[in-house]
Amino acid sequence: MAKKCVLCGGEAEFFIKNSSEYYCEECASMQFGDLSYLQKVEDNAKKLKKFLKEKKPPQYDEEIFIDEDE
Ligand SMILES: [Zn+2]
Repeated sequence: MAKKCVLCGGEAEFFIKNSSEYYCEECASMQFGDLSYLQKVEDNAKKLKKFLKEKKPPQYDEEIFIDEDE
């Protein structure tokens, strides 16, 4: 599922928000000179993973983790 850099075809580490343009670190810094408005692919994957995890319905034998009920 790794994204490819649109410039060199290498493994992309960054992408532009709201766009499907992916860049490896080298091309991103050459192209933009600044990585601050690029998003890290890795962060996004982590976020998605977390989201999927949180979306999972709680199980009855995991009630220890639910303490909103006070
Ligand atoms: Zn590249």
